[in-house]
Amino acid sequence: MKYWIHTFLIFYSLMTLCQLQPFLNERDQLVNQWVEFKQGEVMGVIEDEHGKPMIAQLRFFDPDGAIVKRIQSNEEGSFEAVLDEGRYTLEISKGYEYEIKQLPIEVQNENPLTLTSISLARIMDWGAKQYISGDFHQHSQFSPDGRNTISEVFDANRANGLNSGALTDHNTVSGNDEWVTLAKDSNFIAIPSQEITTKQGHYVALNTTELLDITELETKNDVEKMISMIHEQGGLIQINHPGRQFLNWEQAALFDAIEIWNGRAMPPLSDQTGVETSFSYNEISKKKWFDLLSSGVKITALGNSDNHDISGGSMGASISENKTFNEWMADGWYNGNPRNYIKVEEQSITGILDGIKQGHVFITNGPLMDITMNNVSFGDTLENVVDAEISYLIASNHGNLQQLNIIADGKVIEEIPLAANVPTIGTVTLNLSPYHWVVFEVTSESFEYAISNPIYLK
Ligand SMILES: [Zn+2]
Repeated sequence: MKYWIHTFLIFYSLMTLCQLQPFLNERDQLVNQWVEFKQGEVMGVIEDEHGKPMIAQLRFFDPDGAIVKRIQSNEEGSFEAVLDEGRYTLEISKGYEYEIKQLPIEVQNENPLTLTSISLARIMDWGAKQYISGDFHQHSQFSPDGRNTISEVFDANRANGLNSGALTDHNTVSGNDEWVTLAKDSNFIAIPSQEITTKQGHYVALNTTELLDITELETKNDVEKMISMIHEQGGLIQINHPGRQFLNWEQAALFDAIEIWNGRAMPPLSDQTGVETSFSYNEISKKKWFDLLSSGVKITALGNSDNHDISGGSMGASISENKTFNEWMADGWYNGNPRNYIKVEEQSITGILDGIKQGHVFITNGPLMDITMNNVSFGDTLENVVDAEISYLIASNHGNLQQLNIIADGKVIEEIPLAANVPTIGTVTLNLSPYHWVVFEVTSESFEYAISNPIYLK
């Protein structure tokens, strides 16, 4: 009986081997091809329009438009990347005020590709209009779920054209000294901060250096205590991604800011049909903020990346029927996307905090706006207005612009078409006597979007 089993097993093994043989040959061929697959080097220097070397972001796209690699040039403008042989589109950018350049390149193993003096021109200057850009919710390795060193996060901020930023690691202030020191001799304003991650919601304590060791907020009193501890340090407190997790809506007026746009979910555009809640909660946050404004609560809306990985990854794949969602997902998740533009009286932490307190802010992932209504702007109050003259300038380095929506008490009361690729300047007069607040929103043909803080009417 034993022998029979042995004989059968040998016979069976031989049969299996014969069946496998064609597959093994195929595998060997694949391995050989793979061994022959070579890599090549690309290097170069990025300069501004005056020939000054600068730090910028570079992304390599394959012929299907998928991102293969994301790097940044250094302080001397130079960059170096190793990629598989082949054709790519190299995109060079630096936030929303510089042009976005796209170059077709070919990577070869034998000949390293050197791209000397690629110039990237500044095409808009919102700094001249007293605006400072800032991302006030970002993580480093000091967070258990953060990937990068603090200096990598710092470089990514500048490569993405940010003027200021906060480091907000979960329940720690350990990275703040390095964050502030790195910015010391630069014109970047580094704000020491922390993210208070509690079981009842997450908060950014902006401009705080002392650790707030809070993981539970069980009573209303706990919330009030947390807020006053932050204010005592000279800081501001933001409710993070409330559409995902926030319970204390009846206490919302006590907070300084509300993050209505968090980079881990889609921009708060109106149509997000079919997108799961974990990627569409910004729409919920925006609606809740509108409800607060309509109930008479004044609270500044902010938008931040909540970045955990400067390479744009670690978002987690998701499948959806929504085309805009898939495009948005494929574009990655970078520092400063979205970001705030704050109108400041002085270029300092104090200037930024005051600007936030007063609501002199719009949020964007591309479109820039400069709007006045009877000569006041975002965060200001107008009294006894009947006819309001609204002057607007809307521009974007992405192109794609679609329309400017004027929203009063939560409803779109005017839609103004925008030129897709050139700045649109205009004036419109509207009767605003029935309304209490006005917000401006810029839409695009893709996922670029901007939204302002309100002008209040009394
Ligand atoms: Zn966070």
